[in-house]
Amino acid sequence: MPFDTELTRRLGIKIPVVQGGMQWVGYAELAAAVSNAGGLGILTALTQPTPDDLRKEIQKTRTMTKNPFGVNITLLPSLQPPDYGAYAQVVIDEGIKIVETAGNSPGPVIAKLKKAGVIVLHKCTTIRHAQSAIKLGVDFLSIDGFECAGHVGESDITNFILLSKARQTLKVPFIASGGFADGQGLAAALCLGAEGINMGTRFMCTVEAPIHQKIKEEIVKAQETDTQLVMRRWTNTTRLYRNKVTDAVVKIERESKTGEFAEIAPYVSGKRGRQVFTNGDAEYGVWTAGQVIGLIHDIPTCDALVKRIEKEAEETLTSKLKLAKPKL
Ligand code: NAD
Repeated sequence: MPFDTELTRRLGIKIPVVQGGMQWVGYAELAAAVSNAGGLGILTALTQPTPDDLRKEIQKTRTMTKNPFGVNITLLPSLQPPDYGAYAQVVIDEGIKIVETAGNSPGPVIAKLKKAGVIVLHKCTTIRHAQSAIKLGVDFLSIDGFECAGHVGESDITNFILLSKARQTLKVPFIASGGFADGQGLAAALCLGAEGINMGTRFMCTVEAPIHQKIKEEIVKAQETDTQLVMRRWTNTTRLYRNKVTDAVVKIERESKTGEFAEIAPYVSGKRGRQVFTNGDAEYGVWTAGQVIGLIHDIPTCDALVKRIEKEAEETLTSKLKLAKPKL
């Protein structure tokens, strides 16, 4: 069944599956593999140390796929705040047509991108933030339920409520993000009103994901109970794979008298977390994972994964349609 949704039509993709931005994971290899498989691959801007490195990564991706791909720009507290405007300028100069934005106060970046005619998908964890993003002129919302990996927001609303609320209230098309790993999930998201799904953790566990094999095997072993929330005390709640480092952070978070962010900074630092993906030691630093980690049982190529999702979604939707027909 060819998928024909607002997302596939506007983005020029075959299957309504987006590979969301992932710090230290969203490199050319993964983005190109997802785009070649018929979904939308996305490079993560801040994974590149400078805007010029992002330019090179975009050019490298172009040599690996002829299909559309996007760039993620996330605006969240950072130990070394980046020059977001400069990253956005590179995206525009390189002729990128699709950007996923996320985080706080995205107004100036979205305005700049929209002025250049870029299609913007904005990720948000509440309907209130979605409404603000609509005022900024975004083309799609990426509705991020509490199940999701990384920055879950502070409202803790899971996708069963959030997606239906989006369908009931938003005048702009949306995709479903957080908790998706298979075609049954895609079928459910479409039924709830979404135009497609976004997946992060599932794509980390593919052949092409540029992370250590041992971390992929750790994802296969993990259960849905193996994530932990940290940084609520600093209004930057983040879901991570639970390990010794996240346990230490939670202890400081509970017990610290000062509440200084500096106390946990060495533990949650992205520089340290990044090494997990190169040294393969899941306990070395913090790394992001969604509750969907409990639904991931293999390490397929992106092509095999996307084809399987397409087939499962089709089978799910057609078998439910058959059930819905009255018996004569
Ligand atoms: P980092 O080393 O700068 O910071 C580590 C963590 O601490 C991040 O989660 C960050 O948001 C948080 N943090 C830093 N300063 C803070 C403060 N003063 N108060 C509250 N929280 C604070 O982060 P990094 O891993 O090098 O990532 C760089 C940037 O990319 C961060 O803004 C991060 O949030 C963001 N990010 C993007 C994605 C994505 O998918 N695009 C995923 C994860 C993180």
